[in-house]
Amino acid sequence: MKKIAIIGAGFSGLGVCYHLQQMGGDITVFDGKGVGGGASGIASGLLHSYPGETARLSWKGEEGLAATRELLRLVGPDVYKETGILRFALTEKQEKAFKERAEEREDIDWWGAEKCHAFAPGSHYLPGIFIRSGVTVHSSLYLKGLWKVCEEQGACLIKQNVSLSDLREFDQVVLAAGGGVRAFEAGKALDLRFNKGQILVCQKPKYWKEKSSVIGKGYLALSEREDRCYLGSTYERGYMTEQPCLGTATDLILKQIGKFIPATGAFKVEGCHADIRVSNRKSYHPIAQKLGENLFVLTAMGSRGLLYHSYLGKVLAETMMEEVLV
Ligand SMILES: Cc1cc2nc3c(=O)[nH]c(=O)nc-3n(C[C@H](O)[C@H](O)[C@H](O)COP(=O)(O)OP(=O)(O)OC[C@H]3O[C@@H](n4cnc5c(N)ncnc54)[C@H](O)[C@@H]3O)c2cc1C
Repeated sequence: MKKIAIIGAGFSGLGVCYHLQQMGGDITVFDGKGVGGGASGIASGLLHSYPGETARLSWKGEEGLAATRELLRLVGPDVYKETGILRFALTEKQEKAFKERAEEREDIDWWGAEKCHAFAPGSHYLPGIFIRSGVTVHSSLYLKGLWKVCEEQGACLIKQNVSLSDLREFDQVVLAAGGGVRAFEAGKALDLRFNKGQILVCQKPKYWKEKSSVIGKGYLALSEREDRCYLGSTYERGYMTEQPCLGTATDLILKQIGKFIPATGAFKVEGCHADIRVSNRKSYHPIAQKLGENLFVLTAMGSRGLLYHSYLGKVLAETMMEEVLV
């Protein structure tokens, strides 16, 4: 049995861990902060395959969604809500594109402004699309549950920051370190971009009854608690610190959400979370590849870790299992 080390217990690390186990790997996961200690643990949980300004189907969007759903079902119903996602059309260009999308795709409905307003109280009168296949995942709970599944199948977690020289006893190593990839020489060869993302934790007003998350420019995401929601998010390139900055987060987030749900300006903000997103400078696609002798990488998930971690975790696991050890 191949002895495999995975650096990072976020979406990427646990996605590849699960699939390697199905293929017969003996896995040890290393994470300095424990399960969900990075960006995955604070992700707002929006899972759908129609991102970008014109809501085009993502690269491998259907495959990604199906692979993530498989893991969600395995972990259990408490860690996600399959209640769809509403996307407001904020410009004429979006209106035109969204209408087209509703005609092309079976899982998308076009909604007029009245219907959207009734669904999202406190919003402006704007039309939009309802993505019926959209899911809200309670990221931290999901990761804990997914780790439990992996652990029951024999994976072991060591809460420790590691470098490659600590892992010489392993046959193969997967670098799934999120923003931590910058500390690895091998990771520096990848053309990556890093930005800080923050979300606000807010009290959900009693009049907000809907069980779906809502996106415009920024979003309101359901949380694991009925009386709380997340408002997000920032994309900060020139950040001074990776720590949460409540003032900056509140200013940036409320300004953008205010453009379609002005009522959020009166929500009680209780705190904020921050972490680093990693993206591929060359394309929107994440990176799942061999990086060196017996060294592999799964990173650059951008804002779509939930969509891709299981699908690409499986693709990478297959590549690794096909490799003959040297
Ligand atoms: C504010 C915010 C909101 C987001 N919302 C969404 C969303 O709604 N939907 C969505 O799909 N995506 C969202 N994302 C993006 C998503 O969080 C990322 O795509 C995803 O978390 C990337 O997962 P990862 O496992 O690659 O990295 P991470 O989750 O960052 O995991 C990396 C792990 O590696 C560990 N590590 C690093 N270096 C070492 C080392 N040397 N030794 C041991 N351990 C190490 C870290 O402690 C960490 O736990 C959001 C991101 C942010 C910042």
